[in-house]
Amino acid sequence: MTESIWKAKASNAKAISLSEDIEVEVAIVGGGITGITTAYLLAEEGIQVAVLESMDVGGGTTAGSTGNLYTMVDNRLHHIQSKFNDKTARKVAESRTTAINLIEDLIKKYAIDCSFKRQPWVLYSETGEEETIKTTKDTLEKFGLEVQDITSTSLPFNIKSGIRVENQAQFNPAAFVAGLAQKVDQNYCSIYENSPVHHIEKGSLHVLHTPTAKVRAKKVVLATHSPKGIYGLQMAIFPHREYALAARLRSGDYPEGIFWSAESKTHPSLRTYETEEGKFLITVGYHHKVGQADENKDYFGDLEKNLKRHYDVDTVAYKWSAQHYKSSDGLPYIGESTDDNIFVATGFSTDGLTYGVVSALIFRDLFTGKENNWAEIYKAKRFTPLKSAKSFIKENLNVLGEYLKDYPGNADAEMFSEVKAGEGKIVEIKNEKWAVHRSDDGTLCAASAVCTHMECIVNWNNEEKTWDCPCHGSRFKPTGEVIEGPAFSPLDKRSINPEK
Ligand SMILES: Cc1cc2nc3c(=O)[nH]c(=O)nc-3n(C[C@H](O)[C@H](O)[C@H](O)COP(=O)(O)OP(=O)(O)OC[C@H]3O[C@@H](n4cnc5c(N)ncnc54)[C@H](O)[C@@H]3O)c2cc1C
Repeated sequence: MTESIWKAKASNAKAISLSEDIEVEVAIVGGGITGITTAYLLAEEGIQVAVLESMDVGGGTTAGSTGNLYTMVDNRLHHIQSKFNDKTARKVAESRTTAINLIEDLIKKYAIDCSFKRQPWVLYSETGEEETIKTTKDTLEKFGLEVQDITSTSLPFNIKSGIRVENQAQFNPAAFVAGLAQKVDQNYCSIYENSPVHHIEKGSLHVLHTPTAKVRAKKVVLATHSPKGIYGLQMAIFPHREYALAARLRSGDYPEGIFWSAESKTHPSLRTYETEEGKFLITVGYHHKVGQADENKDYFGDLEKNLKRHYDVDTVAYKWSAQHYKSSDGLPYIGESTDDNIFVATGFSTDGLTYGVVSALIFRDLFTGKENNWAEIYKAKRFTPLKSAKSFIKENLNVLGEYLKDYPGNADAEMFSEVKAGEGKIVEIKNEKWAVHRSDDGTLCAASAVCTHMECIVNWNNEEKTWDCPCHGSRFKPTGEVIEGPAFSPLDKRSINPEK
């Protein structure tokens, strides 16, 4: 089943959709962990807020994650320390620890049923990698964490070296967000599901358009993972897709903790999730740039094969994939955008359950005029050319390469008949590239293949049956409607009549 285990096991927030025009102080677009925690904290301060969620609360990337909460970061704290300085790395550690503690406090306060558990975080190496392990240890200790050297784990294979940090955490992120949404003070905040914002009219009072009604707001928070619309910082965040599966074991023990491998390029992580139906072993990894999947690879299959190297897998009960945005200098972008009173929270890499809550704390302080110790290091308008140069140049050359592929004749097929049931292909019609899909029942549909965000040509994602933009990560249904990413508008429909 290509649905995340978190979504399957979480109850719905049961919000209505927007049916009439309203005016609020802050409009939050997106009801993931960032949007809902921000709404909760702002409502607590007596600020009038509305959340507009295009689908289900907590059902976006939050439900596509691994559900781990940890102070350390995916690309390691020592990289932040060496790119920036000790002070910045310390603030990252401090802000992330504060966010995890807030999540725990909220879960306890409202008895949110989301399987929250304090757990150790383990970084291990099967082949050595002493240097990486040692540097990680030294940095974590420097920034206040207690680190233990280990020579074995509860994983069913030998390790050469490793470290362990107690008191990190795991939960079901979709259940947390849906649970918190129900506890937001309704005197100050309304949450709307199935209410996609398709246009923002910018002004002294911003006007957010949904298909059914409008919201006027002094401030807008784009808690949409990647900010909607065109922003310069989209050149500094790089979209990747990553794969996950939840398996039941025939025999053997389910490991307790957050397990990261130090050496593997595909760095699959491991964790266990216990439900009323029993335990599941979750593994996540094998990322690639959005819209640039290797056609010869079976990412889910490879993930499963890797799991089976060490585990006696009975069934794969759930599999899903999700998107993350790596920032060019390793820190997320949180704060006011280049548009007045429009705020963004993005570039979280795979650390955004915690960074989403850090963002909420920053927005609360910014909007209530309080000093915030971390706002400066994360601010969205920062420009760090030296720290970003290597990845900035590499990634934007990659984007340029994708634009250059839009030359005449570079298409997947010449005839609609070449598009088989269940497939999507780019077909060139009178010098225009069309994204053509044939459904399983044989019906053809077509749209312009030009991404409505910044006009890159989309590619067919055969694993997930979607059109994915290789430049900035917008994704569209086979019929062209927006799924995620910075694009606001669907692919432009084309009519197929008669069939070529
Ligand atoms: C495979 C994977 C594993 C990960 N594991 C972890 C982990 O273990 N720990 C961790 O800390 N982080 C992890 N992350 C990162 C983390 O999941 C994300 O950074 C985080 O969930 C982002 O939350 P968000 O609320 O900002 O975005 P989302 O959860 O994506 O929420 C954005 C919401 O905006 C809505 N939206 C979009 N456009 C519109 C619109 N036009 N109108 C209205 N609503 C709109 C979407 O429907 C969505 O619900 C992982 C990421 C991936 C890809």
